[in-house]
Amino acid sequence: MSIASEIARLHGELPAGVTLVAVSKFHPVEALREAYDAGQRIFGESRPQEMCAKREQMPADVEWHMIGHLQTNKVKYIAPFVSLIHSVDSERLAAEIERQAERCGRTIEVLFEVHLAEEESKSGWDAAELLAWAESVDFATRLPHIRPRGLMTIGTLTEDVELNRREFVRLRELFEQLRPRFGEQFDTLSMGMTSDYHEAIECGSTMVRIGSMIFGERE
Ligand SMILES: *Cc1c(COP(=O)(O)O)cnc(C)c1O
Repeated sequence: MSIASEIARLHGELPAGVTLVAVSKFHPVEALREAYDAGQRIFGESRPQEMCAKREQMPADVEWHMIGHLQTNKVKYIAPFVSLIHSVDSERLAAEIERQAERCGRTIEVLFEVHLAEEESKSGWDAAELLAWAESVDFATRLPHIRPRGLMTIGTLTEDVELNRREFVRLRELFEQLRPRFGEQFDTLSMGMTSDYHEAIECGSTMVRIGSMIFGERE
């Protein structure tokens, strides 16, 4: 299927209340244009330089989402324009986003990335750590230029959909626990990729990040 027809199919298939992030990392800007022409406006990238380069070649109404691990020294490149950072995985990164957002005179919307998968290599908060930190920080005074919108997780890469389902249910439970802390604005659960987005939606996902199903295999 073409990029345009995959976008149209997904827009038709996803339930109301589930936002599609088209994960375009490693794909050329022509591929993003085809998705844009089919109506897609939200694109996910994993590397700041690549995001900045593509942004210069794409229409101004694209919303850019950072989904990959973000080094603190790279925040400054995307702070002026990024719409949502899905991958806030440490206190240090949150502090740097605060600093750069203030410099730009913006408030930056963020998700906290939670590590639920078994693999040691994945980044993200441990659930208990995130709960303790969120309770202890006064966001209004310490991080006033950050707007927490919700949580993100990367499911274990596995054929075992029941394992993915358990991870997604745990993320939703953590989300419900944190909600009173952040209120109405805390409304986003970013979970589900090409291989597991059906399970993620069944478990309450409000935002799916789909790459290879739309754009094909990455180089
Ligand atoms: C690459 C990536 C995706 C997209 O994965 P696909 O399997 O190609 O759909 C989603 N989320 C994150 C964080 C990614 O790095």
